[in-house]
Amino acid sequence: MLIPLIKEHILKRSQQKLPVPEDFSDLQVLVEAQNPAPPCTCDTCDPDLYRSVTNCYLHPHFRIKFEKDSTKNKYGNECYLPPKLSSSTSIANAEAMHLARQTIAYFDCPIQDLNNTQLAALAALHKWRDTRLSDILSPHPNTDFHLLIPEKQMRDILGCINVLFFGRDSCMFHFRWASKVAQDAEAHTQEHAMTGFTIKMLRALPRQSRFEGRWMLDLLGTLVHEAVHVYFYAYACHRCRSAEENLMSHGHGRAWQLVTARLERCFVRFVGLPVDMGRFSGIQGNWAYFYPTPSRHDFSEWRLENEVLTRFYAHDLFGAFEAGAVKRGIKLDEFAKEWWNIESTLEVVEKEGKEYYRLLRRNQDFGARRKPRGKSGKGLEDDFLVRRFRPLGAGEGSC
Ligand SMILES: [Zn+2]
Ligand SMILES: [Zn+2]
Ligand SMILES: [Zn+2]
Repeated sequence: MLIPLIKEHILKRSQQKLPVPEDFSDLQVLVEAQNPAPPCTCDTCDPDLYRSVTNCYLHPHFRIKFEKDSTKNKYGNECYLPPKLSSSTSIANAEAMHLARQTIAYFDCPIQDLNNTQLAALAALHKWRDTRLSDILSPHPNTDFHLLIPEKQMRDILGCINVLFFGRDSCMFHFRWASKVAQDAEAHTQEHAMTGFTIKMLRALPRQSRFEGRWMLDLLGTLVHEAVHVYFYAYACHRCRSAEENLMSHGHGRAWQLVTARLERCFVRFVGLPVDMGRFSGIQGNWAYFYPTPSRHDFSEWRLENEVLTRFYAHDLFGAFEAGAVKRGIKLDEFAKEWWNIESTLEVVEKEGKEYYRLLRRNQDFGARRKPRGKSGKGLEDDFLVRRFRPLGAGEGSC
């Protein structure tokens, strides 16, 4: 973890001087305005860089291979066994971009094609979701998170996330609620040579909720965010030269962006609950290190507009839940499936979402402030939604 930080310090890498983008449209303008466009250094655009022995003195890296499961899954479909992520005979962990792409190939598939181990983890997540659905989708004034989700429950959820998306859990991964976290962050992952990796999350946050007081969704997003960090800390090679861009000292580099972008969509497809992993704020917070500016290819792969879509989905989901249209289990799954299947709506939302995003910026957090008032008597955000987006009649019990 410390190696890239030391390298950055010693090499005194150039830092980004352009102003921090306000939203993903701003970043898009910066990316497209570069003339000449900087070459993309990802593994797809510059494979020679990754093949070169000069990229890492620990060459060769561990390679992840998929093996077909000899038994079909519970839907009768062929699937892959959970892949090995490291080997005692390999000198080095997997190269970060190889790890990222193979991980996505493992989890980004229809539910019916997941293996039985993944399906068992998903069933456990569904059970937790259904037992606590009303707590999850209702606002809570209480922000003592230890009471909301006990430590053991957080660790169980982390285990399910690890198995479902990364193939396996590890007894070397831990979770703790903390009253203080390093660098005044809301969460932090600590590595210890003997005990492994510990995710520490603040038991009370000074900031506003991203989901109008649905703190359990906030916590879920932060937990997934940290789970991806732990995964790269544990299984990626941090000695590669290319790791300076792909992992970065803060961990929000190309490989993390790539995996979280796909995980964000898969999580809502699998579980029906929105997760906000703070991907764009990760870029804003570490903007100085994003030098040179992400390439056009990177920008298209990171799919930052999905964060906006997820917020629209959350808005509609809360409305449908309050109207009694979304209940436990299958009802929620149907709602999620229907919402994400209406491609034409998504196109509109994606296009118009940029305008909505600007309104959000002006009015601070999602739905947290109701001023200035819109014509409908509700907040400006609501008014905008009423006019533009009524994809499923959310809040009217029509789904
Ligand atoms: Zn590229
Ligand atoms: Zn390496
Ligand atoms: Zn992070």
